[in-house]
Amino acid sequence: MKPEMYKGMPAVFKRRDGNFEIKLLVTGGMLSPEQIKRVGEVAGRYGAEVHLTVRQEVSILGVPEDKLEEALAELEDVGLRPGSAGMTFRNVISCLGDTYCFKAAAETTALAKEIGERFTGEKTPGPLKVGIGGCPFPCTRPQFNDIGVMGRVRPELDLVKCTGCGKCVEVCKVGAATLVDEKAVIDYDRCIMCGRCVVNCPVGARYSAEDGYMFFVGGRGSWPPHEGWILQDFVSREDIMPLIERILVVYKEQAKPGMRLREFINTIGFEEFKKQVLTS
Ligand code: SF4
Ligand code: SF4
Ligand code: SF4
Repeated sequence: MKPEMYKGMPAVFKRRDGNFEIKLLVTGGMLSPEQIKRVGEVAGRYGAEVHLTVRQEVSILGVPEDKLEEALAELEDVGLRPGSAGMTFRNVISCLGDTYCFKAAAETTALAKEIGERFTGEKTPGPLKVGIGGCPFPCTRPQFNDIGVMGRVRPELDLVKCTGCGKCVEVCKVGAATLVDEKAVIDYDRCIMCGRCVVNCPVGARYSAEDGYMFFVGGRGSWPPHEGWILQDFVSREDIMPLIERILVVYKEQAKPGMRLREFINTIGFEEFKKQVLTS
């Protein structure tokens, strides 16, 4: 049974309690203090409870139909709109990234905002969900999104500066950092490019030779869950938007209505999809 929408808005719909839910579009999980305050005020005046969705959005529950117009207008005043539902490019989720997290290899929230402003709401054959994580131990699990972006840093060594203190060995979780003759060594076959040795080296002997993102496609979190394919191992910040644009062209031109990106990739094969995206 499809939920009854209010005035055709897929993110404002009737729930089992007979009242409406307003699911607000939030990008990268970031809200201003003014917005969060307004959510509380609107929920207190017209609704019953507030729910934080698994995709970092905010839902106001229990709003009677005859109060929806006032509630929506008060939310709109602080830039909060219902959104991100149905067969569209959905809200972009993100961790805090390098602005706040000590473990981050890359920035995330500004990227989420840029992607969200450019693509969220665009019609797509199936729901298209994007997740961004700032490091290769990602809290947001970007691998399980239709498009996943995961921050990385390629470390290099300046052996003249290295004092052999061993801090990099201590912080490396995959055994890629070792000491040989009291000097650091990087095993690039093991290194997952988390950058933790870089931020923890006390003398700057480990430095970032390159930073960017690993790029996944075709992941899926709901049943049956699937990890996405790695479309590119290392993408620069400026190449992300053009890459998403090319994916959308290929997906929109060829996928049948209702097809998730993973399903579409399976119909033409990952290698063919990759070729079309990277050479178009
Ligand atoms: S994904 Fe990595 S960078 Fe982002 S919050 Fe989690 S640990 Fe920090
Ligand atoms: S943390 Fe820096 S100085 Fe210490 S061993 Fe590693 S590279 Fe050398
Ligand atoms: S970047 Fe991460 S995985 Fe690679 S050597 Fe440094 S700490 Fe280890």
